[in-house]
Amino acid sequence: MLQINKEITPATHTTGSLVTHLECPACGKAYSADIVRTVCEDSTCLSSLFAKYDLSNGLSKEILAGRPATMWRYKEVLPLLDEENIVTLGEGFTPILPLKNLQHIAGDNEVVWKDESGNPTGSFKARGIGAAVSKAKELGINTIITPTAGNAGGALAAYAARAGVKAVVYMPQLTPQVFKDECHLYGAQLVEVDGNISDCGRLANAQAMIHGWFQVSTLKEPYRLEGKKTMGYEIAEQLNWQLPDVILYPTGGGTGLIGLWKAFDEMEQLGWIGSHRPRMVAVQSESCNGIVQAFHGNQQSAEFVDGGFTIANGLRVPKPYADKIILKVLRESNGTAIAIPDAQMSEALKEIARYEGMLIAPEGAALWQAFKKLKSDGWIKPQEKVLLLNTGSGYKYLENIDV
Ligand SMILES: *Cc1c(COP(=O)(O)O)cnc(C)c1O
Ligand SMILES: [Zn+2]
Repeated sequence: MLQINKEITPATHTTGSLVTHLECPACGKAYSADIVRTVCEDSTCLSSLFAKYDLSNGLSKEILAGRPATMWRYKEVLPLLDEENIVTLGEGFTPILPLKNLQHIAGDNEVVWKDESGNPTGSFKARGIGAAVSKAKELGINTIITPTAGNAGGALAAYAARAGVKAVVYMPQLTPQVFKDECHLYGAQLVEVDGNISDCGRLANAQAMIHGWFQVSTLKEPYRLEGKKTMGYEIAEQLNWQLPDVILYPTGGGTGLIGLWKAFDEMEQLGWIGSHRPRMVAVQSESCNGIVQAFHGNQQSAEFVDGGFTIANGLRVPKPYADKIILKVLRESNGTAIAIPDAQMSEALKEIARYEGMLIAPEGAALWQAFKKLKSDGWIKPQEKVLLLNTGSGYKYLENIDV
C-alpha cells in the first residue's frame, strides 16, 4: 500500500482547477482524481492515465493577463485543487528565441527555439516534477521515488526538498557527476545503478512496491504529463495563438511530445486555438532509436533498443512506457521520427553556442541537426515555421563534450 500521511486535511478548492477525473486513453476507463493513481488498473491494459478537465464552461484566455510568469498561470487546466499545495521554484514561461546568426542556414524557414534551459535545475523536468510533487503533497504522500537518466532525478530532489518530502533517485552510474551531486545537495537518497534507465526502473519499481512509496517514473503516473503540457499552452500564448507548422522534440519517454499534443487538444476545446496542428517530429539518439524504427516500420509499438552510452542521457530510454501513444501522436500529426549520432549532437551544440549564444543540452542540439536534415530532404517545406524545443541546459553535460 502507498504510504499516506493521515494528518492531511482534505484539499480546499482554491485554484479554480477544472479537473474532473482521470481517464485511460487506451480503454476509456475512468478513475477518481482524489486518490493516488499510477496506471490503468485493467491488467490487460496498464496504459498511462490522462487527467481530464471540464473545458466546456467558456473559460476565456483573457484570464491569463497579469498572471505570474510560471506554468501555474494555467492553473485551471492543472490538477491541483488547493493553492497551498503548489510547490514552485518559478518553473515555466521560458523564452521563445528566434535564430539570429544561423538564420542563413534556415533560409526562408522561420526557426525559433523554445528554450527550457533556464528552468529550476536546468531542464524542463522542473515542470513535470513540479506538478507531480505538488499533487503528491495534496494527496498526502511522504516519499517519492523515481528512476532517471539524470535531469528528472535532480528535479525531484529539488522539489522534494522544497515540499519537505523524501526523494529516492535511481540513476545509471554512467551519468555526469553533476547530476549525482545535485541529488546529494538537495538531500535526496541516490542509488547509482550499473545499467541503463530500464534497469533503474525495475529496481525503483521493486522499492516502491516494498515500501509503499509513490513512483513518478515517466508516464507511470498522470501528473508529470500535466506539468509538461504547459509548454504547449505557452507556445500558443507566446506565439499569439498561432501554432508553428513543425515542432521538433527530443524524445526519451515522450512526456513532452504527448503533453504538447494534449495541450493543443484542450486549447481547441476551450476555443483558444483552431484546428491547425504542427507536424510533430520525434528526434532520438542513433544509439537508442526504437521510436524511429517503429515509426518507419509501421509498428504500433516499439522494440527494446539500447546501443549503449550517448552524450544525450535524456534520450537513452530503450523502450518508452508510452511508446504506443508517442507513435499515435506522430502519425495523427503527419509527423516523423529521426535519429542523430552523438558526434553530430556535439557539433551542433558547439555551433549553437558559438553563433547563437546558447549553451543547450545535447538532446536539444540534436534538433538543430535534425532540422538541417529534414530541410535538405524536403520534408520541411519552404516558408514553414519551425519550433525547436530545447529541453535543457548544456552546463550539466560538459564533462562529455570535447571543448
Ligand atoms: C528527460 C529529457 C528528455 C526527454 O524527455 P521525455 O519527456 O522523457 O521524452 C529530453 N531532454 C532532456 C534534457 C531531458 O532531461
Ligand atoms: Zn486502460
